[in-house]
Amino acid sequence: MSTVSKIALVTGGSRSLGKNMALRLAEKGLDVVLTYRSQAEDAAAVVAEIESQGQKAVALQLDVAEQQTFPQFVERLQLALQDRWSRSSIDFLINNAGIGGHGMVTDTPEQLFDDLFNVHFKGGYFLTQSLLPLLEDGGGIVNISTGLARFAIPGYSAYASMKGAIETYTHYLAKELGARGIRANTVAPGAIDTDFNATAFEHNPGMRDMLAGVTALGRVGQAEDIGGVVAFLCTDDARWITAQRIEASGGMFL
Ligand code: NDP
Repeated sequence: MSTVSKIALVTGGSRSLGKNMALRLAEKGLDVVLTYRSQAEDAAAVVAEIESQGQKAVALQLDVAEQQTFPQFVERLQLALQDRWSRSSIDFLINNAGIGGHGMVTDTPEQLFDDLFNVHFKGGYFLTQSLLPLLEDGGGIVNISTGLARFAIPGYSAYASMKGAIETYTHYLAKELGARGIRANTVAPGAIDTDFNATAFEHNPGMRDMLAGVTALGRVGQAEDIGGVVAFLCTDDARWITAQRIEASGGMFL
């Protein structure tokens, strides 16, 4: 008996954490719309991998820092949904796309602050607002935060503050959208070995051991540690979970 698959949209699904989320969602029988900013080939490879698992997928370009493009993105999404699924809605939205940025409070440049704000907070806020008309009642939103919103490592004040804002936003989404049966949760990864941290690991040879040392489970996280948590939140088993912050950090700084 064939059932109709639900559709999850993952921003930044072309690489690293977003890619793992997309693949784990597909493993659970969801179809996926993934977005990428510039790496179209990486995104196409993720689409091909999902389709080889027997689920449908499409990739769309999106820069979440360019909020003025969101109406046009919604149009492209609607066309893709119609074309591939004969549908006009999605079931889950995962706001994952993100950039890093390091600077002490004393010298964080305004431009870095604005870039982090645009991508992480304003981007996530208004993309969600733009997509709410397309989000099915009974669906869900997962916003990706960071362990750094709970514990402080010097140099991440601006980045972590944007993630803290997204956590607060998620709480409000859960409250305001509850009447539509829409759940909203945050997943907060600890330090994960992805492209995101590649430069920092390269320039600080002791960093990997330091992070492993402050982690109860004794190692740095991998992308595979995160995708399944997000995918679980997009299943019926998570139907009573909303307004929660789930930290997946292996127990950092307990
Ligand atoms: P990566 O840098 O490895 O990948 C980033 C992804 O986001 C890519 O798909 C990239 O697209 C996309 N992206 C980047 N900027 C934009 C933008 N302006 N608009 C749209 N898409 C964009 O990061 P991770 O996978 O490690 O991180 C994913 C999320 O997890 C981020 O929100 C990050 O803050 C968060 N996080 C990461 C942690 C870590 O240690 N790695 C820890 C805690 C949270 P493209 O490939 O086209 O460039």
